[in-house]
Amino acid sequence: MADSNTPDIIYTKVDEAPELASASFLPIIQKFASAAGVSVGTKDISLAGRIIATFPEFLTEDQRQSDDLAELGQLVKTPEANVIKLPNISASVPQLVAAIKELQSQGYALPDYPEAPSTEEEKHIRAKYDTIKGSAVNPVLREGNSDRRAAKAVKAYAQNNPHRMGDWSADSKTRVASMSGGDFRSNETSATLAEESTAKIVLVGKDGSETVLKDGLSYPAGTVVDATFMSAKALDAFLEEEIAKTKDEGTLFSLHMKATMMKVSDPIIFGHAVKAFLKPVFDKYGNEMAALGVNPNSGLGDLLARVDGNAEIKAEIEKVMADRPPMYMVDSDRGITNLHVPSDVIIDASMPALIRAGGKGWGPDGKEADANCVIPDNSYAPVYDETINYFKETGKLDPATAGTVQNIGLMAQKAEEYGSHPTTFEIPQDGTVKMVLGDGTVLHEHAVEAGDIWRSASARKAPIEDWVQLAIDRQKAEGCEAIFWLDETRAHDAELIKYVTPILEAKGVADKFKIMAPREATRASLETIRSGKNSIAITGNVLRDYLTDLFPILELATSAKMLSIVKLMNGGGLFETGAGGSAPKHVQQLQQENHLRWDSLGEFCALGESLQFLADARNNEKARVLGQAVDAATQGILDNNRSPSRKVGEPDNRDSHYWFARYWAAALAAQSDDADLAAHFAPIAKELAENEEAVVSELAAAQGSPADLGGYYHTDPAKTAAVMRPSATLNAIIG
Ligand code: NAP
Ligand code: MG
Repeated sequence: MADSNTPDIIYTKVDEAPELASASFLPIIQKFASAAGVSVGTKDISLAGRIIATFPEFLTEDQRQSDDLAELGQLVKTPEANVIKLPNISASVPQLVAAIKELQSQGYALPDYPEAPSTEEEKHIRAKYDTIKGSAVNPVLREGNSDRRAAKAVKAYAQNNPHRMGDWSADSKTRVASMSGGDFRSNETSATLAEESTAKIVLVGKDGSETVLKDGLSYPAGTVVDATFMSAKALDAFLEEEIAKTKDEGTLFSLHMKATMMKVSDPIIFGHAVKAFLKPVFDKYGNEMAALGVNPNSGLGDLLARVDGNAEIKAEIEKVMADRPPMYMVDSDRGITNLHVPSDVIIDASMPALIRAGGKGWGPDGKEADANCVIPDNSYAPVYDETINYFKETGKLDPATAGTVQNIGLMAQKAEEYGSHPTTFEIPQDGTVKMVLGDGTVLHEHAVEAGDIWRSASARKAPIEDWVQLAIDRQKAEGCEAIFWLDETRAHDAELIKYVTPILEAKGVADKFKIMAPREATRASLETIRSGKNSIAITGNVLRDYLTDLFPILELATSAKMLSIVKLMNGGGLFETGAGGSAPKHVQQLQQENHLRWDSLGEFCALGESLQFLADARNNEKARVLGQAVDAATQGILDNNRSPSRKVGEPDNRDSHYWFARYWAAALAAQSDDADLAAHFAPIAKELAENEEAVVSELAAAQGSPADLGGYYHTDPAKTAAVMRPSATLNAIIG
């Protein structure tokens, strides 16, 4: 709960590149904010922090940590909340295991992750670890809907400094393949609950047996509840056909999933693809491989490691692979294919990257080639398919003249929570899955076969209404085209439309909005931005994620620079820093050559919004002055090209923070709204300017050799500070 001890602004402690950036940037923020009486505190939502907080009983008194995520989860339900949220790791099992190992090596007596729990104790530990896995943070914090767009300065900069885009040719063989039936899209059923209700999910076996898959669900009146399943047989047939077609077409085979967030369904679908690709091997050696602990869901990398001692199986794999189409590579130098690790190819980043490159992926020979992009479920695949069709027809987009697509996304209170892991199941036997309400009504019913993946997701009434209102406000502010990306022929979307249309009509703004299925909306939006105009995409949760990578990557080259605001339903503000992730590659580079190419523009934009929010919410005029100066500093970074370079020896993330501090101080010194602040910052601005040479040379001298952070997931604060704050001159000014 927010109390008098809650800082004005909470800055989250996370992982990987953004956390390294914080080691340099947060001291600057705290120093500047304190001059205006604004307190900035931290809460630890890092993977390591969450592991430590989950197992106090295994740790010594001084190793224990409070459950900051739970505290933040409470805070975001209060009007006082003002949280700057940096991207955190959505851990796959290999990452979780690596983080546990690292903590153990640092003296934390944590239990191992039980891969195959058998005792009650192991099952209990596994269940606790599983709460940390995957998308465990964002659904807790996102107590509001999402407003994502490029800040005006950022968009203008991208237009004036257009990034390079690969050429599209009309005869590109690149295409998207998805299922024409048997998938989540086509099996979906949806209903809106007239009254508040409890529910359970049961599987009635063909033999008449009844298994309760999930009990104790409860939904308020007006909740849209969906259920659907992916047929394993249809999926296997589809994959087999697409592998063959890829070979005929002479393209690369690629699979695009979201195995981190869709942590139950997508690793299973990924496993089907691994099995399909190596089908003859599984047919022949399935039992032997199972005995070696092979689980196709863990990927080809894990499989190859487990069969390493068996020459016969290895020979068979080589034979089969030689006969298969070449695979889209994650790292062709190291032989890492698309099917090696389930979390290596993440659709929202991988598809835009391929589209931006003119439809090209990397093949095993290290050369670029056209690709067959396999996206089994047909719910959102049409977005990428239509984008590719459009570019094939009309050529690449020109970022110098293109308008922008903003997004208003439905996600509050776990609306359309796509992971839906407590209500997603791999079906153990043939039968019927029924979703039964408290009064006995069967809400949904699907005939399933063993191996099918069944899931239910929901969206509550209040978040849906809030989302429509947010769209109305945004459209009013922008005055541009606004499209609800909803497909009236899809069960879930049809239920949402029943909410949307009456609200738009009641508010008298129906003429300002269109409702279009994702494929048509994709084409309309691309045509709009090609003509230099803007569009607002009002979408559900999945497209919120996908589109705020797709359009930014086409327009700005990256989603890291986006403004990402969550207007909390109870009045607070959550400011996400960019729409991207935690950039693991950036940490590797820092460790190897002490260069951090992470761009903090997302943090700069979020900081400006957070201060502005503080000013508005609490009539804090000093915060307003600070915030306006942040916007001026951000503009200064862009105008003067002070963003980090990708190469060692050139300015990096730390340099950009020096410049940000300098522009921020200069703007505070120059403003006349608050004389005290101007007087306070004038000498700081002067010192920062006068010491430019010393600071820049000290920062440059730090680069070039390996950097020791004392850990990866749980770094040593002193070592990290030494690496990230190497300029004694700057540190003396910042204090
Ligand atoms: P990612 O970290 O965004 O990385 C994709 C690429 O985008 C990076 O390799 C980097 O390109 C570029 N990039 C992203 N942010 C950047 C920044 N601030 N400055 C410069 N370049 C930036 O995405 P990912 O690899 O899909 O995900 C990594 C991890 O982040 C996963 O654990 C994922 O679950 C998590 N994630 C968290 C959130 C969140 O908390 N909101 C959102 C998305 C992903 P170059 O390497 O070419 O420089
Ligand atoms: Mg995304």
